[in-house]
Amino acid sequence: VISKLPQTGTNIFTTMSALAAEHGAINLSQGFPDYSCSPELIELVHKAMQNGHNQYAPMAGVMALREQIAIKTEKLYGARYDPETEITVTAGGTQAVFTAISAIIHPNDEVIMFEPAYDCYAPAIKLMGGVVKSLELEPPDYRIAWDMVKRLVSNKTKMIILNSPHNPTATILSREDIDELSALVKNQDILILSDEVYEHLVFDGQEHHSMARYPELQQRSMIVASFGKTFHATGWKMGYCLAPAYLMQEFRKIHQFLVFSVNTPLQYAIAEYLKDENTYMSLPAFFQEKRDHFRSGLEQSRFKLLPCSGSYFQSVTYDAITDEKDTDFAIRLTKEIGVAAIPVSAFYRKGTDRHVLRFCFAKRQETLDKAVDKLIKV
Ligand code: GLN
Repeated sequence: VISKLPQTGTNIFTTMSALAAEHGAINLSQGFPDYSCSPELIELVHKAMQNGHNQYAPMAGVMALREQIAIKTEKLYGARYDPETEITVTAGGTQAVFTAISAIIHPNDEVIMFEPAYDCYAPAIKLMGGVVKSLELEPPDYRIAWDMVKRLVSNKTKMIILNSPHNPTATILSREDIDELSALVKNQDILILSDEVYEHLVFDGQEHHSMARYPELQQRSMIVASFGKTFHATGWKMGYCLAPAYLMQEFRKIHQFLVFSVNTPLQYAIAEYLKDENTYMSLPAFFQEKRDHFRSGLEQSRFKLLPCSGSYFQSVTYDAITDEKDTDFAIRLTKEIGVAAIPVSAFYRKGTDRHVLRFCFAKRQETLDKAVDKLIKV
């Protein structure tokens, strides 16, 4: 076969998790909790199954869930999405991203994105024959220089991909970024794909600037959200997409042939669980405590902490320890020290190495403590 993605190998999450398992290392690489999701939620899944919700869900998702998503979105961001035509339940955030890109991008369309970037954007663009125009951001603050973004815009620009809170850098978009973005897309035919899977993981009382909050952005945005991140159940592969009807119509054309519909009993369970807003409103405090605990532990080490405003990732630089490449150091750290991390160069198409490692702190305190014990000896 002639490969459609000749440059693509096994992704970094699979690679590092496998290496961690092989060497019995504490796995702070791939982002997932090492504690259970809520027993109440599991009970709701049982109940949904017992109640006979075991056949195909409607293509766009169980209506009860779409209604709850609409209520939550309106409550948090003031935007009213029509469950009938503007909300689709997906098999996780990644499926929503892929579906959105497939629905919009034609050959030679240009897509602006920022690197480091989550690894599923660029391959999807390439598969559709699109062209990635990216801007590399620099640690420690990874600020977007909007005048540079302006220079990437051409008459072929179809989409801009945003991700806030950001994986891997833990930055969030500011109000100024939103203003710059609004000015950039104004009177242009540019759509926005907004990956907001960490929407509830924003710290220090800061606000999440969802595209849903700004009408002029909202009407050109496809927003991706994740129940895996929100409810500590990444293995459930449950998420959703919000988009104005004219975009959602195209999204669903692809969705119906990619997966048709997604897991029925989980949708009923999540619909019920979402009725209590505390299930997601409690998340910032929950994760902020973990962040602070992990950071104060690492402060005793020779790693240098980068800022962390959101997501469940903490990045560090390590220039006081070694000048190894981040990939080499991450492998050595896993094998010799017993802690696995993600080398952030994996989030750049060119493999740009700024000597940054990403740790996931969605872990029990005991796990974080064990990891810190090892990391302070490096
Ligand atoms: N989102 C997770 C992370 O960034 C990984 C998901 C995956 O393994 N594809 O670690």
